[in-house]
Amino acid sequence: MILKNLNSLLSKIEQARLDYSPHHIVKLVAVSKYAQSSMIKEAFNCGQLSFGENKVQDLSTKKEDLKDLPIRWHFLGTLQENKINALIKLKPVLLHSIHSVKLANTLQERLQKENLRLNALLQINSSREDSKQGFSPEIAKTMFIKIKNECSNINLEGIMCIGANSEDVKKIENSFVITKNIFDSLKNYGAKILSMGMSNDFEIAIANGSNLVRIGTKIFKS
Ligand SMILES: *Cc1c(COP(=O)(O)O)cnc(C)c1O
Repeated sequence: MILKNLNSLLSKIEQARLDYSPHHIVKLVAVSKYAQSSMIKEAFNCGQLSFGENKVQDLSTKKEDLKDLPIRWHFLGTLQENKINALIKLKPVLLHSIHSVKLANTLQERLQKENLRLNALLQINSSREDSKQGFSPEIAKTMFIKIKNECSNINLEGIMCIGANSEDVKKIENSFVITKNIFDSLKNYGAKILSMGMSNDFEIAIANGSNLVRIGTKIFKS
């Protein structure tokens, strides 16, 4: 089942990226928050190397379960202050969700203490939904540069957004266009990763320049 889901998903991603540009490469992070370790192992055996979790405890458990596999673990959830130390010790390859200067500063302090570095993205609330975390589009660029300059143990590699929660394709598109424009304005400041697109909107996200999609349901729950 997972093999079939992955094959069908990969061919859709492939088509979407070719439609955007043959030079455009899109990375897939399999969001395994709904999946047990055995299912992650099954996906790994199909060739999927990168997985994402949104709870520190789940990341810890699954990473331990699967420690024999060279999985690249991403963290995508809202990170609570009291979980920062635990997350840092798990050494995720990328934290997608720095949503405030306070979080960045606390992360910096803890990383410095442990003499560790962390690759991360700024989360942008480009759909302006109260239920979503993230920097508002107006301040995103300034905050990216500020955190880049002030938090030397955080390696800011780009930005992330969650598409508008809407049936209206135009609204979803608009949230991706806003994020892409911010991303373009940050290229001179080291932004390389544009993380946007989930099971229901990844094709729209790729059509608007996403180079990393985070997909769970379509792999593990269909
Ligand atoms: C759950 C989640 C995803 C994956 O969503 P699906 O709709 O299951 O593909 C992507 N990004 C974040 C931040 C998530 O929490």
